[in-house]
Order: sequence, then C-alpha cells, then structure tokens
Amino acid sequence: MKEIVVISGKGGTGKTSLVASLAALAERPVLADCDVDAADLHLVLEPEIKHSAEFSGGKTASIQTEKCISCGKCFQLCRFGAVSKDESRQPVYTIEATACEGCGVCSYFCPENAIDFKSSVNGRWFISDTRYGPMVHAKLGIAEENSGKMVSLVRSQAKIIAEKEKLDYILVDGPPGIGCPVIASVTGADAVLVVTEPTVSGQHDLERVVELVRHFKIPAYLCINKFDLNLETSINIEKKAMANGVRLAGRIRYDRSVTFAQVKKLPVVVAIANSPAAQDIRATWDNIMKIINNEECR
Ligand code: SF4
Ligand code: SF4
Repeated sequence: MKEIVVISGKGGTGKTSLVASLAALAERPVLADCDVDAADLHLVLEPEIKHSAEFSGGKTASIQTEKCISCGKCFQLCRFGAVSKDESRQPVYTIEATACEGCGVCSYFCPENAIDFKSSVNGRWFISDTRYGPMVHAKLGIAEENSGKMVSLVRSQAKIIAEKEKLDYILVDGPPGIGCPVIASVTGADAVLVVTEPTVSGQHDLERVVELVRHFKIPAYLCINKFDLNLETSINIEKKAMANGVRLAGRIRYDRSVTFAQVKKLPVVVAIANSPAAQDIRATWDNIMKIINNEECR
C-alpha cells in the first residue's frame, strides 16, 4: 500500500480538483481529505456517509462559579488572554471557551479546584463511500483548533481501511501552507505531489513547501497547474524544484473544461475525458505510477 499526499504551498492552485481526477484514475483508492480547515473534496466526490463520530482534539477550561473565590490567579497565569475580569459580577473571572488553548495551567494552580478541565468536541469525522472508493473526511468546528490532530486521525483511519480492504493506494488531499496540519499530512508518506501555479506567489510558496518536505526527507514531485499561462515562470519553478531534488511529475495546461467539470461536480478526467487538462492529468498519474513501480518512493 502506498500513500500519496497532494499538497500546495498556497490555496487555489487546483490541488483538490487534481485529487478528484486522480481518484477517478486510480483503481479504487482510499481517499483522505486532510484539508480539514476548509474541506471541499466532498463537493466533487459527493460521498455517502456510512459512519460518523465526534472528534475531540483537546481540553477546555471552565470555572465552576460556586467554588470560585475570585482570587484572580487564573487571570494572572493565563498567557492566552482567555480569562476575563469583570468586577461588576460574581465570580469576577470567567473563561472564554473559544480563546482557551487548553494548556491546563489555570486548572493546575487554582487554589480551590474550581476549574473544570474537560475534553472538548472540536468537530466530526466521517467514513463514506464515493464513486471511486472509500473516503475518510472531517469537519472542524467553527474557530476550533487542533487541525493537526484531526489530520492524523483521518490518515490513520484511511490506513486502517486500506489494510482491511487490501487497497493499493491512499490518496490524500492535504492542506495548503506549511503549518501543523501540513506536517501532520506528510510525515511518513510514501510520496508528496506538490501542486503549484506559475505565479510569483506560487513560486514563493513552493519554495517553502519544498523546504518542508526536504526537512522530513519525503520524496517529493512537482506538478505545475496552468503551466502555459506563464512559461518563463514555469521554467524557473521547474529549475528551482530540480535543484532541490524535486522531480517534475506533470504539467497541466490551462483549460476551461476544468471549470465546466467543477460546475458539473465531476473530476475533469470524467467530465471531458479528452480535454487538454484531462490528458495532462492522465500523463501526470502515469508518471506517478511509474515512479512508484520503479520503487523510487519509500
Ligand atoms: S484561580 Fe480558581 S478560585 Fe481563583 S479566580 Fe480562578 S477559578 Fe476562581
Ligand atoms: S487552560 Fe490555559 S488557555 Fe485555557 S484558560 Fe486556562 S490557562 Fe488559559
């Protein structure tokens, strides 16, 4: 079983559209939507939910009013400004749940044991069926954190399904950026496909993401979406990527059929199978398969 993670240094590069097409090209992969802060793979794949459960990624503090003596210790100690003070009420101190980072300091030092420190529900996760294979996905609650833990949960559930059903590939739609959820998405993966676009910001964000995968020693491959919109920048991106040990897996032409496919809620390789973008995506997938079959991935 091989796990291929698709990431991008920034949002809006076409990463999720590409994953939807790769899902259609792979033979019954397990799909994992790890872009949990803004999950949207379900918009194309229309999963049918089979299992759903609460996700608890941390703890939240709350003051038990009947025990609190308003000593102010929690207010002094909280480094996240989550404890507020209002002398016109009793108790004087309250904890704002959405600002609480769950460090537990206030609870530990409260002289009256007046602070509850309980597991909080931060979202839900799902196992679903799609046209192309089983899918694990999740939804983080509004203003909730711990997306890195949620990503780890989604990946581990995808692995369990792949092992149980003896499926060859796990395709991960990773989050954009280089933060904690991205690190949680790529660590231990067999290969990372970095999707970028030929713009100045695309080039800059690619450099950051390449540095990240190099740090974790994960084999990384490059895919330039809409590469023909700015050939000079595309060539620069390819050169820089290769200089950093990142090989080119594919170039995808700018193609309006991608928008058509999105409107139809279909992967472009299904919506217009012989369109330029569909041809390029198919070639990219073939390259990835060659790389894997040559055992160049871990
Ligand atoms: S430390 Fe405990 S007793 Fe003191 S104000 Fe906070 S909750 Fe109340
Ligand atoms: S648990 Fe930490 S972040 Fe939350 S209120 Fe207490 S000290 Fe502040």
